[in-house]
Amino acid sequence: MSSPNQCRICQKLFADYEAATIEWFRVQGQLRVAEYSREREASDRIVAELSEIAARRHALREAMTKHEHEAHPRAACAGSSEAAFE
Ligand SMILES: [Zn+2]
Repeated sequence: MSSPNQCRICQKLFADYEAATIEWFRVQGQLRVAEYSREREASDRIVAELSEIAARRHALREAMTKHEHEAHPRAACAGSSEAAFE
């Protein structure tokens, strides 16, 4: 798994997105445990945390798309690893 180009902003956004994804799976695991243990309050808190992480992932995804269109208009649709320098 690697970023298609060498842009630092792309790499930062991608790293943040990946971190949020990993966190989401981690918290999802906690939710299963809480539900299995019938810990109602813990479940509610974890569900709230999950939706917060999901919102953050969504925002990062939009930021990536927006940045790609603004900074790398040619790379946005191509999906190739060609350099996007001006
Ligand atoms: Zn970029």
